[in-house]
Amino acid sequence: MVADINPFESLQSQIDDAAAHLDVGDDVIERLKHPERVLETNLTVELDDGELERFKAFRSQFNGDRGPYKGGIRYHPNVSRDEVKALSGWMVYKCAIVDIPYGGGKGGIIIDPDDYSESELERLTRSFATELRPLIGVDRDIPAPDVNTGQREMNWIKDTYETLENTTEPGVITGKNIASGGSEGRVEATGRSTVIAAREAFDYLDKDLEGATVAVQGYGNAGWIAAKLIDEMGATVVAASDSSGGIYNPDGFDPVAARDHKNETGSVVGYEDSVEEVTNEDVLTMDVDLLIPAALENAIDRDLATDVTADVISEAANGPLTPEADEVLQKQDTFVIPDILANAGGVTVSYFEWVQNRQRFSWSEQRVNDELETLIVDAFDALVDTYETYDLDNPRTAAYVVAVDRVADAYEEAGSFP
Ligand code: NAD
Repeated sequence: MVADINPFESLQSQIDDAAAHLDVGDDVIERLKHPERVLETNLTVELDDGELERFKAFRSQFNGDRGPYKGGIRYHPNVSRDEVKALSGWMVYKCAIVDIPYGGGKGGIIIDPDDYSESELERLTRSFATELRPLIGVDRDIPAPDVNTGQREMNWIKDTYETLENTTEPGVITGKNIASGGSEGRVEATGRSTVIAAREAFDYLDKDLEGATVAVQGYGNAGWIAAKLIDEMGATVVAASDSSGGIYNPDGFDPVAARDHKNETGSVVGYEDSVEEVTNEDVLTMDVDLLIPAALENAIDRDLATDVTADVISEAANGPLTPEADEVLQKQDTFVIPDILANAGGVTVSYFEWVQNRQRFSWSEQRVNDELETLIVDAFDALVDTYETYDLDNPRTAAYVVAVDRVADAYEEAGSFP
C-alpha cells in the first residue's frame, strides 16, 4: 500500500463526493462516514513451544442500517485500526450497490501467518472467535474470509461459535467449504461479477466484446477466473501477470492452460504459449480494450495511470487505483467499473450462502450463477442511470451516489433511537 494514503480518509472523501450530489442532510452524511463501533482486542495465544504471544485484533461494525454487518477477516502484518475501519465502510457501500440486505463490517489480526504453525493459527482463530462471540451472530454480524484467511479459518470460527452457543448455526459465517455449509459458485463469484460488469460496460459503450483484447494483472482466484470467463464470452486474453512477472501473446492464449502452468510452477511466467515475457507494469499499460487489475490495492498510481491505454477497467481487486490515478483516468475518459460493483460477486454469493444456510436448502450452481447475474446487471443499470441523470464524470461517483442514497434512505426511514 502507498504509505501516504490513509484508506479511512479515502473512504470518507468518496462519501463526501457522492454526498455533494445528494439531497441528504450533513448530519446523516456524518453518520455514514464513521463506524458505529470498533472492537480492539489483545489475544494471548500459547505457541507450540509453550511461550505466550500477544496479537492485536480488530472488528469494525461500520453501519447496520440495511441489515447485519457483513465482511471478512484479514490476517496481515499491515492490518491497522484505520484500514479495518475503511474496509468495513467499503463493505457497507458494496452491499448497498448490489442491493443485498446487509450493512458492513471487517476484521483483522496483525500477524504474518507464514510465521506460525497450523495449530498456532487454530488457537489464535478460536481465541478471536471467542472474543467476537458476543458481537457476531446470524442476524448481527456475519464474518467471511479475506486476505490470508479461507475456508479453514471460517470452519474454526463456526465450530467455536456453535460450541459456545450450544447450537448449529452455519449462517453465522460465510466462505465455508461445501461440507460445512458453503455455496456452489462461491469460488468463481468474484471473477464472474468482474466480467459480467465488463460485458455490460462494453454494451453500454457500444463496444464489441467479441474479439476485444484483455490484460489481467494478478492471476490468483479473482484474476484467473475472470480471464477464463471473459475468454468464454469471446474476448481474447493477451496478457497476464502475477508477482513474478507477466506473459504476452498478441493472438491470445488459453487462460486455463496458463493457470495450470502457474499451479505447476508457481507463476504464469514461462507458460509455453507466451511469445514475450513482460513486466507487471507492461501488463497494466498494454494497448488493450479491457484491463482487469486483480492483484492488490494501489497497483496504479498517478504516473502509471498516464500510460494506461485500456478503454475499460473492471476492478476485480479492492482499491487498485490511487485517488490520483482515478482522476487521471477520468480525464483520459477511461470507463472504470468501481471495485464496489465489479468485485461484489464475492459478497453476493456469500449472501446466497447465508440464505441457503437459513433455508437449510442448497441451491444448484446454475441457480447461484443466475441470481448473481441478475443482481450485478441490476446494479450496473442503477449505476448507469445515476451516471446519466446526474451527468457525472466518474462511474465510481455514480456507484457511491446510488449506495450512499440507499443507506441514507434506510436510516431516515427507520429514524433515530433514542
Ligand atoms: P489471490 O491471492 O488468489 O491472488 C492474488 C494474485 O495477485 C496472485 O496471483 C499474486 O501473485 C498476484 N500479485 C501480487 N502482487 C502482484 C503484483 N505486484 N503484480 C502482479 N500480480 C501480483 O487473491 P484474490 O482472492 O484473487 O484477490 C485479489 C484481489 O481481489 C484482492 O484485492 C482482493 O481483495 C480482491 N477481492 C477478492 C475477492 C475474492 O472473493 N477472492 C472478493 C472481493 C475482492
